[in-house]
Amino acid sequence: MTDEQQAQEAAEQKKPKLQTPPGFHDILPKDHEYFTFVKKVVRHRARQAGYRRITTPILEATEVFSRGVGESTDIVEKEMYTFEDKGGRSMTMKPEGTAGICRAYIEHGMKELPQPVELYYIEPHFRYDKPQKGRFRMFWQFGFEILGESDPALDVQCIFIAYKIFKDLGVDQNVSLQINNIGSAKSRAKYVEALVNYFIGKERSLCENCQKRLEKNPLRLLDCKNEDCMILSELAPKFAQYRSKEDADFFRSVKEFLDELGIKYTENEKLVRGLDYYSQTVFEFWDSETGAQNAVGGGGRYDGLMEIMGGEPTPAVGFAVGIERLIENMKKNGVTVPSKDDVQIFVAQLGDLAKKKCLRLIDELRDRGVRTIGALGKNSFKAQLRLADKFQVPYALILGITEVRDGTIIIRDMSKGQQRYIKMDEVVDEVVRLIGKDNLDMYSPGEIVVA
Ligand code: AMP
Repeated sequence: MTDEQQAQEAAEQKKPKLQTPPGFHDILPKDHEYFTFVKKVVRHRARQAGYRRITTPILEATEVFSRGVGESTDIVEKEMYTFEDKGGRSMTMKPEGTAGICRAYIEHGMKELPQPVELYYIEPHFRYDKPQKGRFRMFWQFGFEILGESDPALDVQCIFIAYKIFKDLGVDQNVSLQINNIGSAKSRAKYVEALVNYFIGKERSLCENCQKRLEKNPLRLLDCKNEDCMILSELAPKFAQYRSKEDADFFRSVKEFLDELGIKYTENEKLVRGLDYYSQTVFEFWDSETGAQNAVGGGGRYDGLMEIMGGEPTPAVGFAVGIERLIENMKKNGVTVPSKDDVQIFVAQLGDLAKKKCLRLIDELRDRGVRTIGALGKNSFKAQLRLADKFQVPYALILGITEVRDGTIIIRDMSKGQQRYIKMDEVVDEVVRLIGKDNLDMYSPGEIVVA
């Protein structure tokens, strides 16, 4: 090795290992089996209920979130990925879905559409949170929003679609619905005043965070996990005393509709949610084992948000579910999902002519919906068959010089180790028969119309 090479080698070894930043993670092919299945269920349930999919940009003007999520929330205060772009604008990577959707509703004049407008999304979100189990800096959420109509039945429709998805994913028994009503802005203001009065004079017993919350967002004191704060909030005034008749009626209807649909729930008067924009109904889906610690999802009604965002008053309700936490819950409870990725046919060949013939054969099999790979880069026959074993394919097709000359091909049943000859022009039909109609991977490119 020359001196120069040695220096380069030493420099290479010093380079830090490249890896995902803290709180970020790769979704590897194995994890995608779960992700794909969750997305499929979400899309089906959304379509059946008339929701349309929306994607808002990953980057928005920071104001979308500072206004839409609320200046005094943890998200806006501490957790946003915000930076100045080259044009000097303050931009933020979206930490949640609802604010951007309201921005889009206003920007695209969706109030002219038949109301309510029902939208859903499946998107990554970014929060500079402290990474820990179930808490990441980039995570995926699916969410549903019903915009433009106020009716307790819509709140329950929202909850119901989440419940149906949990059921489809086999976790409905492990997720518990917590529900509360935090009233209209007016009744909430009265309650907040009473709450502040109660905590004034007790500041020294509150955690540092809650001392700040007392000034900026007193409702959040109720869901602090600090032991002293929890003891104090036990004795704090209860919201039920401050609910107006309309709030109480709204809450009662929500509960009646939930009962009608057979959805179990726990009334939780401490549930206020972290975001500023909620009114009336708030709810969370808790993991039955870990409770509030790692909620699977949550949402509520946000009748005042559209006005805060610069639009006309527009009632709305929605929720979001964290996909990583949902998958964690599925795995913890032994739920497995079907894999559609396993290869069904392995095509092995020997000789240039056979290789040429295989190219067309592989294409035909794929077009018929058979998941097929060919060992085109490998030359030795043995190496190809070893590979077929590794892929655990049920069948391999083997084409050598003799078979090409005779117009035949060998079908090998990999588990039995038995093989037979078949005519080359019958092999595609035979493979389709062996794999079975129901196991073919078909889509319909013919559905598009080319003008
Ligand atoms: P939120 O938008 O805070 O109401 O969150 C809704 C759901 O998204 C939560 O219940 C979690 O399942 C998920 N979620 C929120 N923040 C994170 C995070 N930092 N890491 C992973 N999942 C999260």
